[in-house]
Amino acid sequence: MIVQQIAFVFVLAIAAYFIRKRVLLIRKTIQLGKDTPLSGDKNERLKNMLLVAFGQKKMFKKLIPAVLHFFIYVGFLVINLEVLEFVVDGVLGTHRVFAPWLGSFYSVLMNVFEFLAVAVLLACLFFLVRRNILKIPRFWSAEMTKWPRLDANLILITEIILMTAILTMNAADQVLQTRDSHYVATGSLFFSSYLVPLFQNLETSSLILIERFAWWFHIIGILGFAVYVTYSKHLHIFLAFPNTYYANLEPKGHIKNMPVVTREVKSMLGLETSTAAGEPGRFGAKDVNDLAWTNLMAAYSCTECGRCTSECPANQTGKKLSPRKIMMDTRDRLETLGKTMATGGDGLNDGKTLLNDYITKEEINACTSCNACVEACPVMINPLEIIIELRRYVAMEESGSPAQWNSMFQNMETSFAPWKFSAADRFNWAKD
Ligand code: SF4
Ligand code: SF4
Repeated sequence: MIVQQIAFVFVLAIAAYFIRKRVLLIRKTIQLGKDTPLSGDKNERLKNMLLVAFGQKKMFKKLIPAVLHFFIYVGFLVINLEVLEFVVDGVLGTHRVFAPWLGSFYSVLMNVFEFLAVAVLLACLFFLVRRNILKIPRFWSAEMTKWPRLDANLILITEIILMTAILTMNAADQVLQTRDSHYVATGSLFFSSYLVPLFQNLETSSLILIERFAWWFHIIGILGFAVYVTYSKHLHIFLAFPNTYYANLEPKGHIKNMPVVTREVKSMLGLETSTAAGEPGRFGAKDVNDLAWTNLMAAYSCTECGRCTSECPANQTGKKLSPRKIMMDTRDRLETLGKTMATGGDGLNDGKTLLNDYITKEEINACTSCNACVEACPVMINPLEIIIELRRYVAMEESGSPAQWNSMFQNMETSFAPWKFSAADRFNWAKD
């Protein structure tokens, strides 16, 4: 038993090491972003987080996937309570350490875990079919290349295997309870008891092997999953919470002013005399370090569900723009920088930038600023904020907007309207 305990602590320490390393690196890349004023007060933001992340409010626009996703989510939260027992058992070399303490409630708890395990298993099967056999278009659009598709499938398959391991372990355990006093009585477990006939005729030594294998498989699977999640879109399991807490609560359509421009215009109009704000820095964003840190955290929070892209009018009319790709590209850029930062560099001087090397002008110019993507996102990500910052850079630093836009900008400056009418002629249409 002592060998198992040492092996367990070793596995736990390795997982903790890798998770810590990854979390610190992700934090460092998010910190590349600029500070940004937050909207709403703490209570409003907390309420938003509880409703949207914890309560999954925005998921319920599509009922069936929402209910199934809810099972996976609750299963994840609740079944992980069982992992606590796994960890205590693993470290102390005990077996079902909480059972004597909880008495008959332990049996109720195990049945709840099993119900959730079956619900998660069925939900994952449904999602696998939906992705790979029914081929829902939003899971197969251009940016859903090999890795994003594999990532989604890997996690669903892993969940199915992990849930099967729990049920197998419980079934073998129930037979062992009738043969060996080391195996604490759990009472009848509804779902795994259907598997008991498969194990009843096996030798005790084989049963112990199966029970131990399922136990180790489950705990190593969970720890492996925890490390893998930090590299995967499934990071949203954790980041959906801070992302909704720090989400922009301004009304949609409210585009943030650029304070340095406002100050300049006020000074030109004589409304403000102080121009001692120093160098304005870069207008808009060329790379991730010009974006707000909340935009960067949002990139890590994206579930790649594609709800934004399937609502995007530009995408629907065949333009190159996909708001999901905007978030995926931002994350890819951060990941590239993260790799350099992990070896001591800052990565930002690699000759590449988010604009042009990841996201093209054609993409950002196709955006109508309609906010449909923002409305659709179940975790309150705002791809439009990134698009606007990139466009601001192109317009203000490069004068690189399309020619028609430049003449419109000029007309706005000189005629206060998009068209080239003199101010005196603007109301001619109303004369008769
Ligand atoms: S705001 Fe832009 S990216 Fe978002 S849905 Fe509208 S057109 Fe698409
Ligand atoms: S931005 Fe939101 S809606 Fe779009 S893919 Fe990511 S999580 Fe889904």
